[in-house]
Amino acid sequence: MNFRLFDAPEREPSQFVGFAGNVIDRQAENRSEDCLGQALGDRKTRIMLSRGGRLHLKMLDGRFDAYFSADEARQVGARLEHGVLLGMSARGPVVMAPTALDPEQLPEGIKAIDHRSIYVQGLLSEETMGELAQGAALLSWHANHRFCGRCGAPTEPRIGGYKRVCTQCGAELFPRTDPVAIMLAVSRERCVLGRSPHFAPSMYSALAGFIEPGETIENAVRREILEESGIRIGRVVYHASQPWPFPHSLMIGCFGEALTDEIAFDGRELEDCRWFSREEVRAIVAGTHAEGITIPPKGAIAAHLIRAWAEAC
Ligand SMILES: [Zn+2]
Repeated sequence: MNFRLFDAPEREPSQFVGFAGNVIDRQAENRSEDCLGQALGDRKTRIMLSRGGRLHLKMLDGRFDAYFSADEARQVGARLEHGVLLGMSARGPVVMAPTALDPEQLPEGIKAIDHRSIYVQGLLSEETMGELAQGAALLSWHANHRFCGRCGAPTEPRIGGYKRVCTQCGAELFPRTDPVAIMLAVSRERCVLGRSPHFAPSMYSALAGFIEPGETIENAVRREILEESGIRIGRVVYHASQPWPFPHSLMIGCFGEALTDEIAFDGRELEDCRWFSREEVRAIVAGTHAEGITIPPKGAIAAHLIRAWAEAC
């Protein structure tokens, strides 16, 4: 067997994708029942605020600031008792909390911007984007698990938001992460890219789909590529992963070895799917493709997969 660990790069590809800059010390072993309350009483604590998938940003001298003090947070309707303690940063604890004010009720100088636009437009530092991925996934999970799936009674948050407990039967619920396989079917000199109807005009990307219960990552890659493009896949290798807080996925990026050539797609999930030569993909990456075809923005794991293959060999 070829043991690949010691040939791997010091900085793995996952360190270069969007939402991967989180350096919070999560203190996962030290989450006490009152850790959120303690953090909210600490003057160094910085609080991120979100409502309906839109982060509140202070605008200061043309720059965006995502952090509020507890007093500032209360003034804009923060529901701090429903916050989640992300952990300890170099500057103190970081909390993310939902707010009660609609965007049009916010005072001047504070804007509510949806998480996807913040990511696409690169409005915040890599470190803050990583914290946003963690907090947004947790807040979404809390909003959708207010009742017990076993007995139907209300649940309540515990240990800084990393657990919910049923008030009746005591069932414990833990935050979930949904794995999604995102993959590039490749041969030696060609790769397959597809276009979903909701993509920006001219954009093509890697194929993707949720990993199902009881499935390995590799089998999910083979199944999804076959379903979406009709291509049979042999060997599969993992390349990189990306936290994807829409609402709480983990994108698992892989390459799959195409065993067949013929493409067949149904026109519903994809409106186009085709082979691209390495030369064409290099032109797409360089922004010089003859048909003006583009790929997702730089931070997207799909872009990393496509570039890694285009630049290989
Ligand atoms: Zn229950």
